[in-house]
This record gives sequence, structure tokens and C-alpha cells, in this order.
Amino acid sequence: MIRGKSVVVTGSTSGIGLAVARAFAAEGANVTLNGFGEPEAIEQQRHDIEETFGVTAAYAGADVTKPVEIAEMIDGAEQTFGAVDVLVNNAGIQFVAKLEDFPVEKWDAVIATNLSSVFHTCRCALPGMKRRGWGRIINVASAHGLVASAEKAAYVAAKHGVVGLTKVVAIETAQDGITSNAICPGWVLTPLIEQQIEAFADTAGKSFDEAKREFVAEKQPMARFTRPEDVGALAVFLAGDAAATITGASYSIDGGWTAQ
Ligand code: NAD
Repeated sequence: MIRGKSVVVTGSTSGIGLAVARAFAAEGANVTLNGFGEPEAIEQQRHDIEETFGVTAAYAGADVTKPVEIAEMIDGAEQTFGAVDVLVNNAGIQFVAKLEDFPVEKWDAVIATNLSSVFHTCRCALPGMKRRGWGRIINVASAHGLVASAEKAAYVAAKHGVVGLTKVVAIETAQDGITSNAICPGWVLTPLIEQQIEAFADTAGKSFDEAKREFVAEKQPMARFTRPEDVGALAVFLAGDAAATITGASYSIDGGWTAQ
């Protein structure tokens, strides 16, 4: 039962995270949004969730590369809603370069945002979940948590790390009414991917639409993008009663990418 639960979604001012937060709100959960953006736009998103779904939506501006700010965000959600029942680790960034050219500060930023943040949110949220005997941890990893691509050293390392960390948390919490799972999307059309398609279109001298088709077909036999709301629906399923014994798993939603 998701109605009335308190759900924290990192990186939910955009793309997949926003769709995940809206999917939980649609089921009657109260949500804490997090992420960067224009204050007016974030306020609009927060307000729209409350108006549309009749739930309470809070916003925490924590930078997930900062452990102190993560602790404040989890603490704030516990104060506001009495709990963090569902934690969705979704915040992520990308940087593309050959390994020997990979800027050290970009490596550090990708690892901090995409991997270390998951350690810190779990570290802060698990004591409350254990006390209450119920919790759901859902980590938005990637097809790149299961297979690699060139020029994505930090991202691939971080996402493989997230898949591993998901399993450790699953084992450590197996007796506590808590589950920990990863979602591994292939291409989902969001601002993060639009940037990569624009770069590909520029380099290849193609239109955005042409580049978009080639981009997705290169990796995914289905040659179509997953929609952010489909990832939201999978996250809601993993938080529901039917998923009570699913733990330590990685769910691909990738148009056949990792089946090859
Ligand atoms: P996006 O760029 O649209 O959204 C990223 C979100 O993370 C934004 O809300 C942003 O503000 C937030 N964020 C970034 N750095 C942050 C920080 N330091 N602190 C707090 N928030 C921060 O990206 P998206 O495509 O929706 O990606 C969401 C997640 O899904 C990421 O973890 C990404 O790796 C993963 N993913 C995306 C795809 C895809 O095709 N779009 C595929 C596989 C996995």
C-alpha cells in the first residue's frame, strides 16, 4: 500500500526523477522533490503535484554530492512526514571522454553524484526504515550498470557500483522488512539524453530527429525510447506489496539492449 507513504526521490526536478515522483504521488504518496533548477520552475512542479494528486509535496535543495546536505534532506523528510518509507536514488550526471583524457574533477563529480550519494542516502534513511520495520530502496542505475560503452568510464563504474551496492543493502536488510532493488533503463528521452543526441547530431552533421533514431537503434533492438513515466510505473511496482520478496534485483527496461 503506497497511499500515505513518504517518498524521497533524488534528482526529481527533471526527467526520470520527476516522472517517478509524479507516479508515486498519483498513488497517494507524499513526496519530497530534490534537484537543481530555477526556483520558480521547481515551485511550479511542486505545486502542480499537490494540485493534481491531492498529496503533500516538499522540496529539499540538497546537493547530493554533499553528505551533510543529504543528512539534512532525510532528516527534513522524516520531520515533515514522520518517515522516509521509500527512497528513490535517481540523481545522476554524465560526462563523456576517453579514459586518458577524462578530467579528474569530472571523474570525482560523476562518482560523487551517481554512486557515493546512494551510500549516503541509504546510510541516513536505513535506521528509520529498520525501526519501523518497512522500507523500499529503489536505485535508478542504468543499462550501463550491467554493460559498458566507450568513453563513459566514470558513469559505467558508478552505475556498476550502484548495482553492487543495491545487493549489499538487500542482504543487510533482508530481515528488516526492507527491499533494495535497481532499475536499469536503456535510453529514456530526458534532458540528459537530449544533450548527448545534440552532440552526436553536431559531430555527424545530422538533424536532431535523424540523430535520435540512429542513437537509439545503435544500442536497442527495439529502436525506441522508454518513457520516463514507464520507469515511474516500475518504481511504484517495486514499492508495492506484490514486490515484497523482490530484493537485490536489477530490472532492465531497455528495449533489449542488455539481452544481446
Ligand atoms: P536529468 O538530467 O533529466 O535529471 C537529473 C536530475 O538530477 C535533475 O533533477 C538534476 O537537477 C539532478 N541532479 C544532478 N546533480 C545533482 C546533485 N549534485 N544534487 C542533486 N540533484 C542533482 O537526467 P535523467 O535522464 O532523468 O536521469 C535520471 C537518472 O536516470 C540518472 O541517474 C541517470 O543516470 C539515469 N539514467 C538515465 C537514462 C536516460 O536515458 N535518460 C538511462 C539510464 C539511466
